[in-house]
Amino acid sequence: MFPENLDDIPVHEKIFCNRSLNMKSIKAVGFDMDYTLALYKPETFEKLAYEETLKKLVEMGYPKEISNWQFDHTYMIRGLVIDKIRGNILKMDRHRYVKVAYHGFRELTRDERRKLYDVENVIIYEEPNFALIDTLFSLAEAFLFAQLVDYKDKNTKLQSKSFLDFYNDVRKCIDLCHRDGSIKHRVAENPGKYIILDKYLSSILKDLRESGRKVFIVTNSLWDYTNIVMNYLLGNHKKELNHSWTNYFDVIITGAHKPAFFMAKNPLYEVELKSGHLINTDLIHFKKNNKEYPTVYQGGHFKLLYDILGTKTGSEILYVGDHIYGDILRSKKEIGWRTMLVIEELEKEIIASHSLKDQYKLCDILNSKKVHLEAEFERLQLLENSQKKSKNKNVEDADRNVKKAGYDLLKLRELEKKEIRNYHLKLHPIWGELMKTGRQNSRFAAQVENYACLYTSKLSNLRHYGSHKNFRAVRDFMPHDLNE
Ligand code: IMP
Ligand code: MG
Repeated sequence: MFPENLDDIPVHEKIFCNRSLNMKSIKAVGFDMDYTLALYKPETFEKLAYEETLKKLVEMGYPKEISNWQFDHTYMIRGLVIDKIRGNILKMDRHRYVKVAYHGFRELTRDERRKLYDVENVIIYEEPNFALIDTLFSLAEAFLFAQLVDYKDKNTKLQSKSFLDFYNDVRKCIDLCHRDGSIKHRVAENPGKYIILDKYLSSILKDLRESGRKVFIVTNSLWDYTNIVMNYLLGNHKKELNHSWTNYFDVIITGAHKPAFFMAKNPLYEVELKSGHLINTDLIHFKKNNKEYPTVYQGGHFKLLYDILGTKTGSEILYVGDHIYGDILRSKKEIGWRTMLVIEELEKEIIASHSLKDQYKLCDILNSKKVHLEAEFERLQLLENSQKKSKNKNVEDADRNVKKAGYDLLKLRELEKKEIRNYHLKLHPIWGELMKTGRQNSRFAAQVENYACLYTSKLSNLRHYGSHKNFRAVRDFMPHDLNE
């Protein structure tokens, strides 16, 4: 890989760095498969998951008419939280303050929102009552949940079901769709309909290996599906399956059960490529007899991967994945892997937010005017109070000044709120900017910041950087730094 001049890289194809990472210290680079090596076309892939889930809900006894429902793959975004009990979907900031909330498809008013989710209620937004939409796989289920909530509110049917029942039923059906082949068989029939081809993928993998790195896959998908997807991506897109794509990798671990792969000790099996049969594997046997390790496995855990790769510590591994919880958080927290998060949505969002730069500047100007006027308002109030106490003859003037400042402040606050809302709604008409809520970082952005050493819109952005790139974190800022 030949490094490009940083200024020449389009901003939506840059790799952003939260924690400095020198590629020279990386001995192995690993990839998740679904939504990382393989990017899916949301308009077909997520729609497929949605439609198959609807079928299963009807089989379960839900009204037949729901089969006609339509899916809007642009409606939900990552980082949202489902309130299973109340039938709400929430977007919160990094302090877990709920900034946007919908009940089904109805936006909650500020008062409704505050009553339910005021910080004083100290709600823990976690399972079992809350679910996080932290992978693109979850967008369809969140949309379906909102549709069912809306349906129950407007209909006489399904009244015996609680919102929690809806969530559990949808979850059960989607889970089944992933496991019984409803989704995977359809992808296998026509991978090109669902998977985006990336013309840079093969050269990126080749270059990484030529630079002396071991290259591996750790995916939760099983071998049969992995073989279909990777054959499509790297096997010249031929329909007939062959295993030539496996030559791009030193190790391929399927059915990995992430995040357990980073913690528990599941048994490791070798996969017999042609039949897909699993063979009991004892790595020591290969080592003792000086035999080459097999390439494709199922299960296992990170320590066995170290043995196969010949790496000693987690800090020698860079793992690229799309799932903040399954791929990134655990691998970094538990075993110190270096991490790169793929956020597909970032590309569109960066392009859009750059085109709205002037509007954001306007929000900044309004905010700083507001801060000054608030300070002035407080000063005038204090002055008025002290004049009242001392029965100063100018107290009427002071009162007038306070009222005028109060009115100006009210107007300014309204205007700032309106402009911020307009800005957000141009990025996403329901939830606003992925990485921000109001002027704060969103909860999702905070997780990205905490757990991903690097993040980018797609892994092929690696092509812009040399394989020895020293990624440097930007300086941290605290409020007092900005007052220099
Ligand atoms: P990875 O991202 O390559 O680790 O693979 C993710 C795998 O998880 C894919 O095979 C998905 O089909 C599967 N998956 C995603 N959501 C669910 C679910 O709800 N239940 C079961 N499997 C799932
Ligand atoms: Mg994935």
